[in-house]
Amino acid sequence: MNPAQGLWIGLVHHPVLDRAGSTVTTSVTNLDVHDLSRSARTYGLAGLVVITPIEAQRRIVKRIVEYWNDPEHAARIPGRREALGLVRQAASLEEAIELTGPGAEVVGTSARGAAGRVGWAEMRREIASDPTRPRLLVLGTGWGLAADALAMCHRMLEPIGGERDYNHLSVRSAGAIALDRLLGSEGPQVVGT
Ligand code: SAM
Repeated sequence: MNPAQGLWIGLVHHPVLDRAGSTVTTSVTNLDVHDLSRSARTYGLAGLVVITPIEAQRRIVKRIVEYWNDPEHAARIPGRREALGLVRQAASLEEAIELTGPGAEVVGTSARGAAGRVGWAEMRREIASDPTRPRLLVLGTGWGLAADALAMCHRMLEPIGGERDYNHLSVRSAGAIALDRLLGSEGPQVVGT
């Protein structure tokens, strides 16, 4: 059985913070869509939801997916079509949660720690014990998820790398590390920060 059939990644472009702490909408990055969809395919996820309220940005994502779905390009690199075939889009985090499925659990990520964060080993156990439960693993762009996005997360995971003086990963790296901790084949004994 696919160990992650209920799990989706949500890549949030709004509401996120900018460097001054204001809530903004960031631009979609081609690399994020490619790399996170490849990670989603590698770990057997249900899909990647790219979240942006800007219609023109959603058109860019659609074009990226269509490009690699074109028979000429797909024949050259078939794995790319397979990964990008997992991409879905939503105008808001609310819409992404709806797309994930009824009763979806929304699990946030952040480089910042705080009391009450769920540990990776615990989350891994929960996914393994109920892999079909709809879950949305939320990743931020810009300077991270804004308060309105954090408020929609039922739980937050511990920061990867712990609270060091520097633990700011790219969203692509954070996504790949998170999926390996939650679903990688090495087992929970190596899971932690
Ligand atoms: N523009 C940046 C980039 O190059 O990707 C976006 C950085 S964005 C703030 C990074 C996102 O990756 C965070 O919102 C969070 O979802 C995740 N992330 C980064 N570092 C992390 C860490 N140490 N622990 C958990 N998640 C982390």
